Amino acid sequence: MAQNIFNCPLPDEKGYFGEYGGSFIPPDLQAIVDEITASYEIICKDPSFLEELTDLYQHYVGRPSPIFYAKHLSEKYGAEIYMKREDLNHTGAHKINHCLGEALLAKRMGKKKLIAETGAGQHGVALATAAALVGLECDIYMGEVDMVKEHPNVVRMYILGANVIPATHGRKTLKEAVDAAFEAYLGDPVTQFYAIGSVVGPHPFPRMVRDFQSIVGVEAREQFRQMTGKLPDNLVACVGGGSNAMGLFTAFINDEEVAMHGVEPAGRSLDIPGENAATITLGKPGVMHGFKSYMLQDEKGEPQEVYSVASGLDYPSVGPQHSYLKDLGRVNYATINDKEAIDAFFELSREEGIIPAIESSHAVAYAIKLAQEPDVGTILINLSGRGDKDIDFVVENYGKDYGIPQV
Ligand SMILES: *Cc1c(COP(=O)(O)O)cnc(C)c1O
Repeated sequence: MAQNIFNCPLPDEKGYFGEYGGSFIPPDLQAIVDEITASYEIICKDPSFLEELTDLYQHYVGRPSPIFYAKHLSEKYGAEIYMKREDLNHTGAHKINHCLGEALLAKRMGKKKLIAETGAGQHGVALATAAALVGLECDIYMGEVDMVKEHPNVVRMYILGANVIPATHGRKTLKEAVDAAFEAYLGDPVTQFYAIGSVVGPHPFPRMVRDFQSIVGVEAREQFRQMTGKLPDNLVACVGGGSNAMGLFTAFINDEEVAMHGVEPAGRSLDIPGENAATITLGKPGVMHGFKSYMLQDEKGEPQEVYSVASGLDYPSVGPQHSYLKDLGRVNYATINDKEAIDAFFELSREEGIIPAIESSHAVAYAIKLAQEPDVGTILINLSGRGDKDIDFVVENYGKDYGIPQV
């Protein structure tokens, strides 16, 4: 089974999905990234690698994750709603799927250390976990401001044996963390491996991360058919960089009867730049962080400040394959705002007893809207992560509106 997920015809050899993707990085770095591409080409066809990864998916992550039929939501909103439970994975989200893949690749390439930036700390924790398991050092770069805000994740990374290195310049958040990690990588790209956290960055990362995530769709396709005798009529996934969405979508891309919906964060407003992260909905094609894709730019052509209540979704670009699928019209990209996402967070918690990540709540909110349209058929949501990380934030900021007393 593992083999066929690595056989997608796109991207082409240079890493392009149509006009998107590619690699826009300095020549020195390109030489290093070419080595990663070459190694990946070999290992992705190596049965021993696939066996090792499949074994970890099963015995470490807990795969296959189940599909759950959401009976109460279905009855309430008028369409059959199902969820792929990536929230039940070890570490609580889909990110572990690609972090393990990248860690195993780095190990086989003889690298000593995994490095990455992290915003809210989710990628950092998943990577620190994979590093501990595989036996690699791990340096996570994180804005000083985010380190205070996301203290529990900082503690988790330390417990897992990783170093957390504060980015202390500028606004001291994700962008500065990217700068710091990139600088560190350029300083020593031979012993370090830069593990990108989504289907973004220069080739081969969008392809590689997609391949590692595509286990989600491969499982879901089989499970859904077993449960219902058919394929789902609709897939719904939230889109930050786009890895959980590509993970689900890839296995269904040639099933024309399956509609796909990618949900971007409308934040506080779609009309005010900086108040959302709706990259595909509002952005234009351009080059950022080493690849070409839709992006949100300010007047100077710099990456736009972005915002979403879900810190895992606030990225000013998006995986290049999403841009390609947007132009093809194969995926419908829609938006959900903060308020709708928080409503869905409570709705799923109270109707089904599942507290979703705020990121995943965007997908749930869209599915609830979709369910109320006529003749939509079945809906399969990718529930990308669990909401434990979000509970304090939600209660502090929204608890009163949902009848939660001050505790
Ligand atoms: C990081 C994260 C996302 C967004 O990342 P994608 O690459 O767009 O999938 C979504 N959901 C959860 C739970 C996350 O942690």
